[in-house]
Amino acid sequence: MSNAKNAKCAYPMPPNEAERQRELCDLELLDAGRIEQIDRICELARSLFKTPIALVTLIDRDKQSILASSGVNLTETSRADAICNVTILGNAPLIVRDAASDPRFKTSVLVRGPPNIRFYAGAPLQVRAGINIGSLCIIDRAPRDFSAEEQGRLSALAALTVSEILGWRAVRKLDASQKRLAQTARMAKIGGFEFSRTSDKHTWDDMIYSLYGIPPGTPPANDLIVSRYDPEMRAKSRRRITALTRHGVPCDVELRGTRPNGETFWVRVLADAEVIDGKVSRVFGAAQDITRRKFNEVRIQELTSRDPLTGLPNRASFIDTLNSYIDAAQANGERVAVIKFNIDHFRDVNDAFGHQTGDALLQSVANGLWQDFSAVGTVTHLGGDEFGVIMHGPAVDNAERYAKAFVEQAKTLFRHDHSTLPLSVSGGIAVYPDHAEDAPGMMKSAKVALDRAKAQRRGSVVLFDPEIAKAAEERDALMRKIRHGIDNNEFIMFYQPIVGLRDGKVAGLEALMRWNDPERGILAPIHFAVGFEEPGLAIRLGDVALDMAIGQMRAWLDAGVGFGNVAVNLSTAQFRLTDLADIILGKLGRAGVPPPQLTLEVTENVYMGWGADVVVATVCKLHEAGVSIALDDFGTGYASLSHLRQFPIDKLKIDKSFVQAVESVAIVDAVINMGLSLGMQVIAEGVEKQDQVGLLRLKGCDFVQGYIFAKPMEPERVAPFIAGFNPTARKKAIANA
Ligand code: C2E
Ligand code: CA
Ligand code: CA
Repeated sequence: MSNAKNAKCAYPMPPNEAERQRELCDLELLDAGRIEQIDRICELARSLFKTPIALVTLIDRDKQSILASSGVNLTETSRADAICNVTILGNAPLIVRDAASDPRFKTSVLVRGPPNIRFYAGAPLQVRAGINIGSLCIIDRAPRDFSAEEQGRLSALAALTVSEILGWRAVRKLDASQKRLAQTARMAKIGGFEFSRTSDKHTWDDMIYSLYGIPPGTPPANDLIVSRYDPEMRAKSRRRITALTRHGVPCDVELRGTRPNGETFWVRVLADAEVIDGKVSRVFGAAQDITRRKFNEVRIQELTSRDPLTGLPNRASFIDTLNSYIDAAQANGERVAVIKFNIDHFRDVNDAFGHQTGDALLQSVANGLWQDFSAVGTVTHLGGDEFGVIMHGPAVDNAERYAKAFVEQAKTLFRHDHSTLPLSVSGGIAVYPDHAEDAPGMMKSAKVALDRAKAQRRGSVVLFDPEIAKAAEERDALMRKIRHGIDNNEFIMFYQPIVGLRDGKVAGLEALMRWNDPERGILAPIHFAVGFEEPGLAIRLGDVALDMAIGQMRAWLDAGVGFGNVAVNLSTAQFRLTDLADIILGKLGRAGVPPPQLTLEVTENVYMGWGADVVVATVCKLHEAGVSIALDDFGTGYASLSHLRQFPIDKLKIDKSFVQAVESVAIVDAVINMGLSLGMQVIAEGVEKQDQVGLLRLKGCDFVQGYIFAKPMEPERVAPFIAGFNPTARKKAIANA
């Protein structure tokens, strides 16, 4: 007995619990089984908020019963464990960011065990003032935030759920009571009408009067009804009436109107004609009030066609709009433009500054697009960091100009913590019928143009042209070949000596990749450089380079070849691997190669881009473990040495474009001085001529890499090269230069 009491005290209850129970009982929902409309709302909630679980729950006497569920199989739980039991105490949504750390819920079996609730958001199902029978809730297995806007949407869906429950209840009542047809019609708000052509007489049910808001007793007339419809619907209804009464064409039409008291209503009119001797003698039919259904349809349409974060129409509605514009353009010879915009390096922003900043960035891009384009086109959030604009008619001529203006403006658009982040947006444009013949084709062409924009220069806009498509296809084909080549071990490493000018010895080697293509032979990176740019491939190629170089170092160590140090090039994409340092140190460890014998060559772009924090962490970790870091191609990027001082840099490689151009002697001089004064080793690349060697030595540059000593060579040739490299002869040659 005391047990029962304790159980009662285990959870809170609203003050009007008894009344609430009666209402719930009255609705006959508890043994209702599944209700299709409610299931659909549940699915909708889950996909709209992107949560793994959505539920429609009813709080019964001492249990929570699940009316609809999506993403989990649950029929009932104890009331004490139900978070929804707290939701029904209030009128606003209950948001629990992390149930596991909420004292009210952390002991619930639903939190401690399956379905392992962490995030919960539930809106009460209020059937009338003060009576909440349960809740519509969404659940995630990880904590998360829920914006005020999302709460509004959840409440709207809860209201929709209640509306469907009440509608379901009305229909069920109808079925249950096997009353006469007239009564059924009244409850379903169906009114009958008839018109006899022979006697020219109209007959209307009472329901017709109340449906259209016409005072009872008013003599029936078609014009009276037509005048209730909204002006833009009147012509349609007149056409239908004429077709029906003159030619006997049956009608089934949905029309919107306004009653004299200002209420908006929707009716479905079903009518047919009796034809005798080829002439319409009588017309009869029914009009049903479908206002509630229409209202719900519009709400659902609104909820599903907009992106919750930006409030812009989503991809599905974009495709619908595009299709209808293309259909229209086909008929009237107009043109349609699709502009695809993509935020550059969005992933890095998210990684570096967190999702809230990422969301804020998406919102400000959405706002900017809306401001610039809503007057001339349809603006859409296509998903992720991609946005779309559709323009049609004469506006198409200006699509490129507008897009370029937006991209320029976007560079100053986004402010974060008082500093403007270097935001850039790229754009690709396709025009119907010039660049594609249907909506999927347009989307593809705009994407091809966008990819080209991103590849050529971030923050630019490209208009599709067939040459680009051809280039894109070739690029795709090359990527496939490279992938295949990696699978077949066709990628190998060549090694180019780096010579120390002071002692005339080989100080180290740079590992340079080659593609041993079965058909075309040995190919230099210029033939597969796209592989270093595409993240997936770059990571795989990077792995091949590291494995081969480290394996080779092991072999040379075993054979006693004094190779000094091997430098391996890293591409930007490899730094996306947050555990890159551990991967490299692991490879060295397993091969038993001492870290100081490895140098990693990194370009300044790696340090300058987004996600620099991750890069710094990785580089520092490797450096601390003894690996040398070389800054490659110095001078070709935008970084200044002072910028780069926060990174550990042991070696500076002067780009061959400076070394080879006579007019850049001053630059080379300055770079050497700077490097040396910062305690770095300075290496000159691309040295081909004797006089270049002389000059470099004069300026104090002690390390040289170039064709003058050797081209990149197969690994087998390295040991003989080092052995045969005659320090004295070389020294003389160098001294004479
Ligand atoms: P890099 O890192 O600047 O490599 C130096 C390039 O200069 C090499 O071109 C080398 O063969 C070339 N070179 C050396 N001495 C001379 C010279 O005296 N005259 C001239 N004209 N060129 C000289 P290579 O091997 O064709 O490689 C081109 C680029 O491909 C490399 O430039 C590097 O950015 C990239 N690369 C090569 N292997 C790898 C790799 O394993 N991983 C990554 N991420 N990139 C690589
Ligand atoms: Ca290099
Ligand atoms: Ca270089």
